Formats: sequence, C-alpha cells, structure tokens
Amino acid sequence: MTWAPIPSGSPFSMANLPFGVVRYGGSDGPRPMVVVRIGDHVLDLAAAGIEPALTERATLNALMTSGRGAAIRARAGEVLEGPERVDWLRPVADAEVLLPVAVGDYVDFYSSLDHATNLGRILRPHDEPLLPNWRQLPVGYHGRAGTVAVSGTPVIRPDGLVAGADGVGRLEPTAALDFELEVGFLVGGPRASRIAPDSADRHVFGAVLLNDWSARDIQAFEYQPLGPNLAKSFMTTISPWVVTMDALRPFLVESSLQEPTPDPYLRMERPWGLDLSLQVDLNGQTVTTTNFDRMYWTFAQQLAHTTINGATTGAGDLFGSGTVSGPTSDERGSMIELTWRGAHPLTLADGSTRSFLHDRDTVTMRGFFGEKAGGRNERVGFGDLIGTVAASDVVAHSTSGKAGRAALSR
Ligand code: CA
Repeated sequence: MTWAPIPSGSPFSMANLPFGVVRYGGSDGPRPMVVVRIGDHVLDLAAAGIEPALTERATLNALMTSGRGAAIRARAGEVLEGPERVDWLRPVADAEVLLPVAVGDYVDFYSSLDHATNLGRILRPHDEPLLPNWRQLPVGYHGRAGTVAVSGTPVIRPDGLVAGADGVGRLEPTAALDFELEVGFLVGGPRASRIAPDSADRHVFGAVLLNDWSARDIQAFEYQPLGPNLAKSFMTTISPWVVTMDALRPFLVESSLQEPTPDPYLRMERPWGLDLSLQVDLNGQTVTTTNFDRMYWTFAQQLAHTTINGATTGAGDLFGSGTVSGPTSDERGSMIELTWRGAHPLTLADGSTRSFLHDRDTVTMRGFFGEKAGGRNERVGFGDLIGTVAASDVVAHSTSGKAGRAALSR
C-alpha cells in the first residue's frame, strides 16, 4: 500500500513512522531537517510541503510543543500511500543522524522490581534489598540533560573518585564501566503539572531506547545519601528515531500487579505496560533478552509522580524507565547484574571475559513492540542504539574533551 521500499523485517514499517532529525551535505551546505523514517529511507517532510514551519528545524522540539505531531505523522502516511514521489525520499545511509531533541529536564527512574532487588543485594548485601519506600513511589533522581547524546557517539571512560582498600577516594578512570538497558519517554505539548496517570498519553510524545552509561566504582563511593551523580552524568545515549505515542498505543498491556495499592495519585484504570521485547548485544553477542511488560512502575505513573508536587513538565523533557531486568539470569539489563559485580564474569565468543566494559567494546540495544503477543506483519521498533567505548590512548592524546570527541567521530 506504500510505494516506499521497506526491507523485510524492518522495524520502520508504515505502522511505525517515527520522527527524527538528519542532516545531508549539499551544495548549499548541510541543512538539518525533521523527517519521518520509512524502511531504510527518510521522508523529507519540508520537501513534501508538510508544515515546513515545524519541519525545517534542527530539533523536534517545536513540533513536540505544537501538538501537531499526530497530524504531521498522519499526513506523512498519506504521502507514502499516495502518488509515488521518490524525490522526497533520501537514504538514511547518506545522512548524519542527529540527536532528535534538545532535552529539557531529565529524570531517571528505578522501576524494575528485579533490577532494584538485584542492585540491593549486590550493593547492600546485609539489608533488605528493597527499601520501604520502593513499592510506594517510583524512585528517581534528576540526571544531566546536557550530556544526553545520540546513538553512535563514542563513550569516553569517565574519571571520578574511586575508593581504595583504605576507604580513601582517589581520582582515576572508572574500572567498572557499565551499560543500563532502559526506555526513555519524551514529553510533548504545553507545559503541564499534576498529570493524572490515565492522561499520560496526552503528554507523552513518544519513546526511544536509552542507555544510562554508569561507572559502578564511582557510584559506590558517591551515591549515599543523595544518589548517583558523576557515575551517571558523563553520558546518556538515546536511539535517534522517536516512536510516537500513536505508534506504540496498540502495544499497551496490563502492567504488573502493585502491592500495596499505590496512593490515589498513582492509581491507573487504563493499561500502561508495554509489550516491548528488548535485547542487548556486547560485541555482537547477545547477553540479555527481556520484555518491558514486567516493569513495576509504568511511565504513566512516573509522569504523575514527577508532577504531583506542582513541578511542571514541558516538551523535550525526558524520563528514563530505569534499568529493565527480568527475573532470570539472562534477563539482566546491566553488567553489574549479569556478572554479579564481577563475581561471575561473562565469557565472550572470542574466549575473553568481561566483568565490566573494556575499551573498544560495543554495546547494541534493540527493541521491538508486540513480539510477545505474536508479532505483526508490520513491525514496530526503535532500530539500534549503539555505543562504543573509546580507546583510552585516543582520549589521552586529545587536547580537550571536545577535540577528542571530534577526533573520535571522524
Ligand atoms: Ca538508570
């Protein structure tokens, strides 16, 4: 029904049509533009005459604020089903795929029961793994919006104070670099406050995959009593294609039973779980497969919690689900859980072992909706979220972090 070519199995079907921002070189210089992805191509919305005031832009923020996203996506679908216009399609392979959103406020949650239980057991082995507040509110902390980067950005191993055997912190590069498999939700529409869970779909623009890169040794020394700071703030990466609320709505499912029943401001009548199959590959080898439908706190409750105190949220705000882990040992969404903080290192296909990430390691995350329910003819997913740990010698020889990043991106 569309004239656009879509490779078999592509997550970028007509049922998806996610938004992104790309840039092409050209005689008139590189020009960022808002596009809709279809198969291995993008539809140039401005060329197709679709709301150029919102689509001739370097980010999605104006479109997200406008409330016009659903109409623009619907119009893109009509164009792709109408008379063939191959001149409006461009190959993704020729594009520079950019960070789609200027991120406003960023909050990261901790909403997987299995992840929170695992981390409690690892970090506080003599206490109850879950603290008493965990089942009463979605625990979270404010992250650093300015270091959210797009898939493919090199990961620079961070420095921080790491405690030695004498308990004294010394500044050194982390020896415990980790990934966290998460889903990120992006807010759209006008500024709002005290959002009820059951109206979350009026305020959430869409979703991306999110990797909350973490330095576990830095985290262990700094996190009490106020939570993680430098162990997380050095970088967070997101996938470049924003799957809209309309595209993911068919995959909403009942979420986990919550016991005790939450406070009324967190109660939901509608289903806000997501049938979203997730996978993590380390250097091309799958190390984790799980599903988002077992998350304890839903994104609707996370948004309600963020705004119940009167705090406002606006277009471009990002909130992370928290690491997604399942109950079995091959469903763990971070290295610290997979290796139990190095007690059981992973063995990779080349015979090498990992407690945490080495330089030049590549972490790839993928997510597909609706696979648990049997899948659909038209696949919906995020595409790959990729990050490679930079080689330390390359970073050390750069004159500044920015120059180093520029060198690494070439
Ligand atoms: Ca996290």
